[in-house]
Amino acid sequence: MTQTFPWSCPYCGRDVTLTLASQSEETHFFHNGNKEGSLALTTLVVVCPNPNCREFALTGVLRHSKRNSQFENQYPFGDPLEIWRLKPKSSAKQIPAYVPSPIIDDYREACLIKDLSPKASATLSRRCLQGIIRDYWKISKARLIDEVLELKDKTDPLTWQSIDAVRKIGNIGAHMEKDINVIIDVDPNEADMLLRLIEMLIKDWYIARHEREAHLNALINAAATKKV
Ligand SMILES: [Zn+2]
Repeated sequence: MTQTFPWSCPYCGRDVTLTLASQSEETHFFHNGNKEGSLALTTLVVVCPNPNCREFALTGVLRHSKRNSQFENQYPFGDPLEIWRLKPKSSAKQIPAYVPSPIIDDYREACLIKDLSPKASATLSRRCLQGIIRDYWKISKARLIDEVLELKDKTDPLTWQSIDAVRKIGNIGAHMEKDINVIIDVDPNEADMLLRLIEMLIKDWYIARHEREAHLNALINAAATKKV
């Protein structure tokens, strides 16, 4: 399972390339007469290579496994039966503190419960999406769908298309037309797609605006020091 692959650190938020040196795994094979048959529990440890971070992530994966009679040391694995994110407990990305705290709180909670309750996660994500549109764009209407529609002329076409694409997905779309507090029934993929959308909007709107302002202020300050 271990190889070189791109990884986004959940602690420092850096996109890094993991090497063999920063990963390790161990597998515990067991049967013990359990009704599911031969199983294997693999624990994976990944350490962030960023010298200022060096945090580790720990994941457990449970799979079916059968000893291969032809090759002593090969144990073919089935698809994962369970995946436990042990440390950190959620897939939430680091959000800068200049994003309003109710938005960060909803996003983090939606990430935390995504696997346990996709419907609760999606409900929080819709509230988070509404919070972003209201705070960033100052658009406030009774229904989320009307806010999304008003956004169309204010944002770039590709961003709006991605919001609209997620909006059109099954239950999410149907329930954007209703009260934001209605609990909706969604599958984990739908809940995940909403979270990815929120991450993208935070990056494209809040973070991009902040970086642009920082960059321009640095230019203004640099120009000011040149004055005699
Ligand atoms: Zn890190």
